[in-house]
Amino acid sequence: MPMRRFGVRVVRNACRAGFAAVLVASSAGCTLVPGTNRERLNFVSSARMEQMGQQTFASLTRDGTVDRGPMADRVRAIGRRVVASAQAMYPEAGLPDRWEIVVLDDSTPNAFAVPGGRIGVHSGMIDLARSDDAIAIVIGHEVGHVLAEHAAERMSQAVLIAGGLVLGDAAMSDLDDGTRQVVMAALGAGASVGVLLPYSRLHESEADELGLYIAANAGFDPREAIPLWTRMGRSGGGGLEFLSTHPMASSRIERFRAIMPRAMSLYRRARDH
Ligand SMILES: [Zn+2]
Repeated sequence: MPMRRFGVRVVRNACRAGFAAVLVASSAGCTLVPGTNRERLNFVSSARMEQMGQQTFASLTRDGTVDRGPMADRVRAIGRRVVASAQAMYPEAGLPDRWEIVVLDDSTPNAFAVPGGRIGVHSGMIDLARSDDAIAIVIGHEVGHVLAEHAAERMSQAVLIAGGLVLGDAAMSDLDDGTRQVVMAALGAGASVGVLLPYSRLHESEADELGLYIAANAGFDPREAIPLWTRMGRSGGGGLEFLSTHPMASSRIERFRAIMPRAMSLYRRARDH
């Protein structure tokens, strides 16, 4: 089924038309994503998102994490460099000072981040990534979601849609799977809305772009993104975050090629220092 870019339409509609009325009692509204300058919708407080992120992270890591050993040390060391790079590149974003980066013993190639600076990487993703560069690109992608506050935007969209405020002519059948799930969860007022569910293609592309720049700026080779996503495509995709269809690995690779020149100049500058 062709993808309807409903998420984008919601943001544009909400940001540019009659939106103020919706947010009379709210302290925020349309803001710009650092690094891409995309106008985004966000009226959920970061404190609330962080609290939800903490709950979600606790449940995702309930079965324990790999805290010791070379794999945990390696991922923590790469993660520290990637996070420091993001903080230096986007000081205006107000990223958390302290991050928790853990490894989960799970063969599914997947990784996730929740608001508040907590990241989990599956051992299956580390195996698939192979190199430190590719692991950095995966972690960069996750930091990209946090940086762009995608969870808060998704939550904001879901609340508007659930309230019927921007539905207009769009029926539920027009929504892509991820958005529909968020709406259903928002209607049920689930605590995990906006944290656990898959991101839209727009958010995935944005996290790919931000993540590639962040990793390159930390001195990791951005060219590793191409073989990484080729392997991901072949493996049939990972867990919730990295489903091969979301977006297709081939369109993802095409996009990486388009943004590679900027990533390479960041990488070269980082290597020269
Ligand atoms: Zn993602």
